[in-house]
Amino acid sequence: MAPVTPPMRSRREDREDTVRRAVSSEVEAAGTATEVAEAEILDEAARRAGAVDDELIALYPDAACALDHDGPFQLLVATVLSAQTTDARVNTVTPELFGRYPDAAALGAARREDLEAILRPLGFHRAKAGHLLGIGQALTERFEGRVPRSREELVSLPGVGRKTANVVLGNAFAQPAITVDTHVGRLSRRLGWTTSKDPLRVEKDIAALWEPWRWTDGCHRLIEHGRRVCSARSPRCGQCALLEAGLCPQVGV
Ligand code: SF4
Repeated sequence: MAPVTPPMRSRREDREDTVRRAVSSEVEAAGTATEVAEAEILDEAARRAGAVDDELIALYPDAACALDHDGPFQLLVATVLSAQTTDARVNTVTPELFGRYPDAAALGAARREDLEAILRPLGFHRAKAGHLLGIGQALTERFEGRVPRSREELVSLPGVGRKTANVVLGNAFAQPAITVDTHVGRLSRRLGWTTSKDPLRVEKDIAALWEPWRWTDGCHRLIEHGRRVCSARSPRCGQCALLEAGLCPQVGV
């Protein structure tokens, strides 16, 4: 059989191929350069975010969860109660609550009127009483009276969202978790770490900047700084160590 001869290519076709190859290698190089530039920007942002936390560690070495509690069950309950009120106010009702209902079974069997009476100072006491009853019953029926250790299981409990689950994971089970409350959200935006007001987006933006060992206590430190210096209405930038260290761009202030 005679060999098959490939069709002759014109010079024009050869020229077009050469141009195509040159353009695509330039595009590839430009893409790589963009990726490298983006990685460098993120590295620098992470370095600065870490430096912010280092400053806060020096300022608030003992920053910790402000809800009084002993163990995962009490922390879960206290965190659910802290919605729409302050941790300090929650701490005024939990001694009686935990004294009368020391575990999930007791809480699940509580009389609703009794719970509502204890929770009245917190506001939303009817809804909160309903959540606690549901949590007590769910823990007893589905988790042998214990607080589960996974986010998926935690958010399946009544009144428990991602923020509450993260508080429990980070503070009761030592699993690094970022808790985006009003202070953490506000400071993250002012520090230029995020532009979002969506807590999940803010959580992801912080996670991209901080190593996991900073997550849980770093949020406590941001909260402390938000309460003491960087308040919502009147941030005291003139007395702020982060400004002095050149670490805060004061976005929106
Ligand atoms: S410089 Fe101002 S805006 Fe920035 S963290 Fe300090 S108080 Fe807040």
